[in-house]
Amino acid sequence: MARTNSRDRELRARAEAVIPGGMYGHQSTALLPDDYPQFFERGEGAHIWDVDGRRYLDMMCAYGPNLFGYANPQIDAAFVRQLGLGDTLTGPTALMVELAETMVAMVSHADWAMFCKNGTDATTMALTCARAHTRRKTVVRAKGAYHGAAPWCVPRPTGTLESDRANQILCDYNDVASLEAAVAQAGDDLACIFAAPFKHDAFIDQAEPNLAYAKRARELCDQTGALLIIDDVRAGLRLARDCSWSKIGVEPDLSTWGKCLANGHGLSALLGNDKARKAAASIFVTGSFWFQAAPMAAALETMNLVKTTDYLERITALGQRLRDGLAERASAAGFSLRQTGPVTMPLFLFDDDPDLRKGFCFSSEMLDRGVYVHPWHNMFLCAAMSDADIEDALNAAEGAFGALKKQSATLQPVPKLAFLTTGGTR
Ligand SMILES: *Cc1c(COP(=O)(O)O)cnc(C)c1O
Repeated sequence: MARTNSRDRELRARAEAVIPGGMYGHQSTALLPDDYPQFFERGEGAHIWDVDGRRYLDMMCAYGPNLFGYANPQIDAAFVRQLGLGDTLTGPTALMVELAETMVAMVSHADWAMFCKNGTDATTMALTCARAHTRRKTVVRAKGAYHGAAPWCVPRPTGTLESDRANQILCDYNDVASLEAAVAQAGDDLACIFAAPFKHDAFIDQAEPNLAYAKRARELCDQTGALLIIDDVRAGLRLARDCSWSKIGVEPDLSTWGKCLANGHGLSALLGNDKARKAAASIFVTGSFWFQAAPMAAALETMNLVKTTDYLERITALGQRLRDGLAERASAAGFSLRQTGPVTMPLFLFDDDPDLRKGFCFSSEMLDRGVYVHPWHNMFLCAAMSDADIEDALNAAEGAFGALKKQSATLQPVPKLAFLTTGGTR
């Protein structure tokens, strides 16, 4: 099916001239099918429109920030109201205290909160706080887990130094023996253990946290005096109205939040318990925009919706419906589709598709049918999605599986994904 994407093409050409590489970071289209739009015009509820006027049901939710719908009237009204009063001022407004009180009341392990802009600010602050608290250097974290794009954790290290990543030991997520070995290697220098709430690495099946691993991480921190940090930047509020590991009964000392905290407005947070309070007060962390009032007004409204609506139950039910429906349609078309991760943050990978050529083809076919899915990154459900939207996605999938079936035998490898099977880097 031919799609008009002339405006997108034109913008890409102009971007090539004035933006290095045309685009950067996770917004670089390099690892999406070629027909995916780069530029969008607007979003409303669960849908986005690209610059060529095509509308998509957006299963990416801005890579997480959209929890209650794009342009949510209630949240954005609070944001705009505060903009009129003042946003970036010489100091914070009362909203900062109110938001800290709200989050501390909602997240069981938390006794205090500090606010910043990006998830990377929060994870980097967590690391600094743990090192200040313990006066030790070493961090243990899981191989392949994303914690942001600062030199200490960026997945593609071009331009950073080995020394930026010094004093880190990597272990395998959910592998108790590997965690124990990493902690043993840290000896008396362990400052913290970082953990993702579930394994949400790119390109591979997602995995629930296993209880033995979570409990052992807590015990090892208690035994050594190190701090346990949950990086809830991505999963926060999509698994629980609390820190995500509250579901398995393991409380961290610190947790990091971002993405949907203010439903798309720029705000992230570090939450901590009393044990870490003194260290948190002792570190110098700040930013010109960290005290902005309008995103805090949006966050308070977001928290209000978190507390007073059944959004979590609804997105869970929608996610389950999507998962069941997709499984049915995949198997009817003769495909073995692995759907992993929590139903509110799904990832789809095809069996026998090591270089993702099937995944790329399926995603393109979904896009063609008005559903924006991602071939190798976990997706997100939002509370603005309806049963009808899921039905649309399933109908699109039925068509996409059919189209994939026709092309299956003749699909060519995707050159830009060669690194997946050759062991090279992207
Ligand atoms: C996105 C993400 C971050 C970084 O957040 P930014 O706002 O992009 O800096 C950190 N940790 C996890 C788990 C994330 O998904």
